[in-house]
Amino acid sequence: MSEPTHKHTGRCHCGSISMELAFTQSADEMQVRSCQCEFCSRQGSRTVSAADGRAVITVAADQLTTYSFGTETCSVLICKRCGVYAGVVMTDGDQLVSIANARGLGIKAFKDRDGAQLTHDGESTTDRIKRRKSRWTPTEIRYTL
Ligand SMILES: [Zn+2]
Repeated sequence: MSEPTHKHTGRCHCGSISMELAFTQSADEMQVRSCQCEFCSRQGSRTVSAADGRAVITVAADQLTTYSFGTETCSVLICKRCGVYAGVVMTDGDQLVSIANARGLGIKAFKDRDGAQLTHDGESTTDRIKRRKSRWTPTEIRYTL
């Protein structure tokens, strides 16, 4: 397996949430996704993730709010201070996986990319979790004060 050598960093508008990403594929090779669910459409999200990548989210603990909806199997990370939707996390056993909202985090390498329009309506909860495990990025969250 190749090492995730393609690195990106992004942060919410005020900097309370930052995310460091490392992927095996270059930004141009990666799919940028535009989930068509009601929440993501309203946000205009453009998300990226890879199961063979790595993500480190650093967040000021008192500036983070999370939002769950629908099947409530994951948590959207939102900055309390500037309101940016930074990404989504899900626990997978003792592991955490995530997608990064490249647009919200202002990640340069993905800036002008259109998202592939994906609709996950009608997907069962089991399939939903399986899909995330196969595509989302193994993640570590570090809280700062
Ligand atoms: Zn912020």
